[in-house]
Amino acid sequence: MKENYRIETKCVQGAYEPKNGEPRVLPIYQSTTYKYDTSEAMAKLFDLEPGYMYTRLANPTNDMVAAKITMLEGGVAGVLTSSGQAANFFSLINILGAGDHFISAATIYGGTFNLFNVTMRKLGIEVTFVDPNASEEEICAQFRPNTKAVFGETIANPSLDVLDIEKFAKIAHSHGVPLIIDNTFPTPINCRPFEFGADIVTHSTTKYMEGHANIIGGAVIDSGNFDWEQNDKFPGLTQPDESYHGAVYTRDFGKAGYITKIVAQLLRDYGSTPAPQNSYYLNLGLETLALRMERHCSNALKVAEYLQNNEKVAWVNYPALPDNKYYPLVQKYMPKGTCGVISFGVKGGRKKAEEFMNSLKLAAIVTHVADARTCVLHPASSTHRQLSDTELVECGVSPDLIRLSVGIENVEDIIADIEQALDAAFSS
Ligand SMILES: *Cc1c(COP(=O)(O)O)cnc(C)c1O
Repeated sequence: MKENYRIETKCVQGAYEPKNGEPRVLPIYQSTTYKYDTSEAMAKLFDLEPGYMYTRLANPTNDMVAAKITMLEGGVAGVLTSSGQAANFFSLINILGAGDHFISAATIYGGTFNLFNVTMRKLGIEVTFVDPNASEEEICAQFRPNTKAVFGETIANPSLDVLDIEKFAKIAHSHGVPLIIDNTFPTPINCRPFEFGADIVTHSTTKYMEGHANIIGGAVIDSGNFDWEQNDKFPGLTQPDESYHGAVYTRDFGKAGYITKIVAQLLRDYGSTPAPQNSYYLNLGLETLALRMERHCSNALKVAEYLQNNEKVAWVNYPALPDNKYYPLVQKYMPKGTCGVISFGVKGGRKKAEEFMNSLKLAAIVTHVADARTCVLHPASSTHRQLSDTELVECGVSPDLIRLSVGIENVEDIIADIEQALDAAFSS
């Protein structure tokens, strides 16, 4: 595909290019196995030569969709995983092991916070959470000799803090480690972190990418820009892998080394592989991603403005509002739009928040975000329930925070629903 096609065109037609007489639409390769004429031909695959042997490692449908997301992000290699959780875990465990340490912005998704703070600690990997708005000096002071990566979310779920990607990239690079960015909320339509120095991008494709609340999925994409050989921090990439007869990922696979290692070791051993059918759905979602993001963002801006002018609402946080503290960062990193998610609090705190939510008719209470249908959630009693009060504050989640994920319905209907629910909550 021509490199200079614009991103909307890549969403629709990127990656899969049928040859003469082949299916126009990306086929689902619903096969665990691949046939070879000789066992010698098969043996080569076990030495990591290109080709398919078993779908736990690779499948043509999955690969094609990974290639499309890689194209959208402007990366060199990418891989799909069975969930966003697996993507974030793999992005780190691919380069860290017991005894290593990494730094993460504290304002991240609750599931990721638990993964880092509880499960990865059990594996012997230490994390230090930092306030994303702390000064460079304060963040640099957290580095240790065994620090191997820096992690953050472009727009944090659900606090909606916007990360200063260039600041974090500079800090990471001055310590010889990569910056990993979870770009789930803006998607590459609105922000491409590689253009600002990020090295690895992850996604929960469950959200806007698939966009219809049909599948769970994830992706890890490599920019190809990080030099893993600049120091001795990444032996897993620069030293022989005994489980593949001494293959050296950076030497043998060049810019695809980091992603090849995820496939060859992590998908092989952990098996967090997406079903090809799910990748097919993901691809359908990607085809309309640019259109949907535009609508999510324009709807959300109107809803945020409505909430801001409603006297029953205590506060509104939507980074695209001009008086938001992140507005300057939004102008720099995502001038086309942010995402469809708004957080706000109603006067009367948690109790009124619950009455408001129970009164909604169009917007549903669901544990989901970032799909076509407008939905709401109270993170403190759901996604972030396992977190202590101090951890909640660290993550940027106040007890009265309502997360509103604005869908692509007619915005007048969404606003009318919010209005009737606010009236109902405050008439009791
Ligand atoms: C939902 C989400 C995840 C986890 O993704 P799953 O697909 O649910 O495993 C990770 N990061 C962010 C920002 C998310 O919103």
